[in-house]
Amino acid sequence: MNTHKVRNLESQYANSLIEASLDPLVAISNEGKITDMNQATIHITGLSREELTGSDFLNYFTEPQKARAVYEEVFAKGFVTDSPLTLMHRLGKLTDVLFNGSVYKDVKGNVAGVVIVARDVTAQKSASQYARSLIEASRDPLFTINTAGKITDMNLASVNIMGLSRDEMIDTDFFDYFTEPQNAQAVYQEVFAKGFVSDYPLTLRDKQLTEVLLNGSVYKDPSGHVLGIVVVARDITEQKAIEKELIEAKVFAELATFIAEEAKGKAENAVEIAEDAVKAKQQFLSNMSHEIRTPMNAIIGFTKVLLKTELTPKQNEYLTAIKLSGDALIVLINDILDLAKVDAGKMTFEAIPFKLKTSLGSMMHLFEAKISEKNLKLVKVFDDKIPSILLGDSLRLHQIILNLMSNAVKFTNEGSITIKVELVSENEQSVELKFSVNDTGIGISSDKIEKIFENFQQASSGTSRLFGGTGLGLAIVKQLVESQGGQVNVSSEIGKGSTFSFNLSFLKTTETTIIEELPIELNNIKKPIKVLVVEDIALNQLLMKTLLDDFGFEREIASNGLIAIEKLNAEHFDIILMDLQMPEMNGFDATTYIRNVLKSNIPIIALTADVTTVDLVKCKEVGMNDYIAKPVDERILYNKIMSYVKKSIDPPINPSKTIEQSKSQKRTITNLDYLHKITKSDSIIMMEMIDLYLQQTPELIKSIKNSMVNSDWKLLKASAHKMIPSFSIMGIHSEFENIAHKIQKFADSQNNEDDIHQLIEALDNACSTACMELQEIHLNLKNKSI
Ligand code: ADP
Repeated sequence: MNTHKVRNLESQYANSLIEASLDPLVAISNEGKITDMNQATIHITGLSREELTGSDFLNYFTEPQKARAVYEEVFAKGFVTDSPLTLMHRLGKLTDVLFNGSVYKDVKGNVAGVVIVARDVTAQKSASQYARSLIEASRDPLFTINTAGKITDMNLASVNIMGLSRDEMIDTDFFDYFTEPQNAQAVYQEVFAKGFVSDYPLTLRDKQLTEVLLNGSVYKDPSGHVLGIVVVARDITEQKAIEKELIEAKVFAELATFIAEEAKGKAENAVEIAEDAVKAKQQFLSNMSHEIRTPMNAIIGFTKVLLKTELTPKQNEYLTAIKLSGDALIVLINDILDLAKVDAGKMTFEAIPFKLKTSLGSMMHLFEAKISEKNLKLVKVFDDKIPSILLGDSLRLHQIILNLMSNAVKFTNEGSITIKVELVSENEQSVELKFSVNDTGIGISSDKIEKIFENFQQASSGTSRLFGGTGLGLAIVKQLVESQGGQVNVSSEIGKGSTFSFNLSFLKTTETTIIEELPIELNNIKKPIKVLVVEDIALNQLLMKTLLDDFGFEREIASNGLIAIEKLNAEHFDIILMDLQMPEMNGFDATTYIRNVLKSNIPIIALTADVTTVDLVKCKEVGMNDYIAKPVDERILYNKIMSYVKKSIDPPINPSKTIEQSKSQKRTITNLDYLHKITKSDSIIMMEMIDLYLQQTPELIKSIKNSMVNSDWKLLKASAHKMIPSFSIMGIHSEFENIAHKIQKFADSQNNEDDIHQLIEALDNACSTACMELQEIHLNLKNKSI
């Protein structure tokens, strides 16, 4: 192959390479005219080969001067690299290029022209523009800073936030834009040291003193030299504001919670204080009423006793006046206590079966004397459709009607008083009744009628002087009725009369056993009733003695709970009347002891001067059966004692009869109903008790007989005494217990009313029979339990 051919081949190869290049490639003569070009040049300029050839290449750049300078640089230096220029298409489209060129020489070594490659960088450029626009779009200030700490570039956000132009900021100290330049500098140094820093809090020295978090990292040139740092100062004003709001909200929430808690505490405190105040008031009233009522009871009680003695008419008159005044005072104290109770929300109502008609009837008796004295007529209208026994608080009903009736009697001088009870409605469980008290008295003026139900209010200021009274009666009526869900109405006309009415509902009941309000006849009870009075105040002791003696009861007095317990251990009693407030051991503690330690079911009636609910609840809790308010009403005292004694003497017969019980018909002297009851038919305990009886009784009979022979009255008394409880336990007829009592009495006085020997004989016989019967029962029980 000759050299020419080789040359040809080489040039052909070069030509195809040139044509394949996507970058414009142009050969330019020393004169600056295009001598050759590739396809890319044709494409980028939009001109044909013919058009381009011989034309001035520099004309195709948007900045021909700049292009010329570059071109000349090629000649001067022999080459140029990456000079940025922009080529323009025939139709105006611009292409950014990087101008690279070098001279080429002819075979002789003379410069023949330049070859240039214009590398298309449009794509690269748009990427950087995209990056730039992203940077500009950032709402956070962005700065580039050189190694000297001067700002070299920034974005729009920086301009906006600092309120300075780009030119004003360029080449200034970056640190000066912060309120604490030292800190900013420290951050800056940290970026250099570590290569980055994140979320460093600083404050820009702009108008708003924007708080920012500084994030920065170094940037380097392609060869790895650090050129400076880029920092983003993230504006956290909003975040801070939200954070602040959150903190504030939290603080407020905490504060609110605190305030609420404090308020709650205060409220609780207030409730406590109020409750304490109520308690203190109740306590005060209870103490005061005790202090007032104790002497009042004595005054009234002894007045009553005195009134039963023989008196001159004058004395009788004075004593009656004393008694009436005392009664009025007690009523007043009770009224005040009642109102206090309602105030304290402590008024409770019982649901006890009672006979409405009987109960009203006996109440009306109380007014009979006064009514006939004033020559008035009493009309009673009772709806017979009303069930005869109702469940309710008959005492409170009495209190209401008593108040209305006594007003009617008090304010009426001629005409009549009508008490009417009507059935308003009825269903399976209950009845609604309307009670009305009508009089033909002085009447009440319409302007006063509203006021009369208020505490201490009377229709006219002269009422108290003329008629007496305190103005509490109707207030109590209203409270008692309303507390039970009823309502009081009044209609009145001056000079014509008044009608007071109220509606109340009562539950129906199938119960038939109710505590009789009428006196129970003493003859139902075969033996004298023995009452233990536990009372510390001498006057009250004396009063109780007088009353009980009057009833024909036996009685013992214990001046506190401890003495009462000693007496109970030594003797048998049918019932205990227990005062509550006593020294040494009070009534509650004594009752607790009697119930829990002595395991005795003996009826206990509290004697209380203070009928506050607090005490009544406590009475029930410790196991008292009932209470009687002081001043003791003789009738109530008598009835209560009788009904409890009767109940404990006639224990309810167990319908499922045991062997012993069914055999008891054959037995002549013993009855084990009571023993069954108290032992809950536990045969072991029953056997133990029978054993005891069998051991002690013959011994006691023996010692009674011996002490008679030896005139050992002390031993006689003790032996007879020791025997007494066994009669009721073994159900031995009370006539034998009476005999034991008589023997005891004889031992005291040796006053032989009855034939003492005969009595002892009778007792001996009864006890022997009892022992025989009990031995048989013991055997039966033993066989059964094996
Ligand atoms: P007191 O009767 O003790 O004064 P009350 O609260 O029972 O107190 O009665 C308040 C007042 O209402 C009486 O003082 C009297 O002025 C008037 N009042 C009550 N009942 C009647 C009545 N039946 N007739 C006339 N006035 C009455």
